[in-house]
Amino acid sequence: MVKNRIDASSPASLRRTHRGLVLSLVQANPGVARAELARLLGFSEMAATRIVRELVEADIVEEIAGTDSRKRKPSKRLGRPKIGLMIRGEGLFAAGITVSAYHSEVTICDANGVLRARKEIPYLVSEDIGGTARAYGRELKALIDRSEIDAARIVGVGVALAARTSLKENEIVRSDYFGWGNDDGLFQRELEAAFGLPIRIDNISNALAIGEMRFGDARGVDDFVLVHVATLIGAAVMTGGKLVRGKDGVSGMIGHFRSEPSAHRCVCGRQDCLNLNATGFGILSKLGKITSGRFDRSQLQTYAARLLEVVESADKAPLLECAGASLAPALDGVCKLLGPEKVIISGYVGANAAYITGLRRALGRDFGEEMSGRLPIVAGQVAPVQAAALLALSTFCYSDLLDFERFSNPSGLVPKQREA
Ligand SMILES: [Zn+2]
Repeated sequence: MVKNRIDASSPASLRRTHRGLVLSLVQANPGVARAELARLLGFSEMAATRIVRELVEADIVEEIAGTDSRKRKPSKRLGRPKIGLMIRGEGLFAAGITVSAYHSEVTICDANGVLRARKEIPYLVSEDIGGTARAYGRELKALIDRSEIDAARIVGVGVALAARTSLKENEIVRSDYFGWGNDDGLFQRELEAAFGLPIRIDNISNALAIGEMRFGDARGVDDFVLVHVATLIGAAVMTGGKLVRGKDGVSGMIGHFRSEPSAHRCVCGRQDCLNLNATGFGILSKLGKITSGRFDRSQLQTYAARLLEVVESADKAPLLECAGASLAPALDGVCKLLGPEKVIISGYVGANAAYITGLRRALGRDFGEEMSGRLPIVAGQVAPVQAAALLALSTFCYSDLLDFERFSNPSGLVPKQREA
């Protein structure tokens, strides 16, 4: 029996939801046939046909004959070629700004998540949050102007950075890393004014988790934990396919979990935070590179440059293993609480093989059979510099937030039916 059977005269909000579901399904199953799509979503074939036709007319989806070959499987059926549905890569684009002391980049990806333009830019963060937003906005604007893509087909702009954000209030709640307090929505307003496009600002861990779920290692995985390890450490929790955001967006701050005592001070003032051990900061302190006795924001770029040297030198592997082992107690607690299907470790320090080896070994040694091998712990596939554009793509293309009217049939050749 088909559940949730819908007809073609559904109200506009429902139609937006259905359009998002269709796009998501086609993206996840390139070559899917229309009848199969209707079956999987529980739509009537008439409703599926109508939505698909709109998306084809808007150049967002394309119909391909004999697409079984694209799925690398020979067609078992002979006779009439099967018509499969694909996302048209050039149909829509998304832009991104990744703000990081390691590599700041502005990027544009196509609807399939493939990077089409990118530029590494200087680190432009200052105490002036509005000025920081404008500076990064200018770099992205220059990239869009120079690139060959059709700027009118950009769905929105994503920003990934080390801050906790509230989606409800469209604001940055706090950033221990940059030393920012609540920005009252200033960062977002500056970018909206510059681009006239929808903006989504999110924590780098959340942006990476969203990217991994659609384009990376967590495809088809609804419950997973992503830990981002660079100079400091943060986490994103996906449960039932939704991010856990907590009150005011301040979930995932595992950097302040209790850990071994350190000679140095965390951004919060304590000397026993995970931030001081299982991180790049912990590695630098073991190397004697932290002279001020505390995490010093004015040194963010120096920390990053030194850590990039560390992860590239083989003789530093024991230090990375040791930092990874320090994460084990916290990760054990997180996993026992949430029961994830998979753990993804990302970031310039965390995604290093030695870090993950140290983590796995300590989990197996100290936390029993369940943690020693049965739980997949993998390095992230989505790079931090891709995360921002993928965030915008997931948010404004593969959801009910797609502004379909803006992209549908600008020539007006096909009469559009008014949405109720
Ligand atoms: Zn702390």
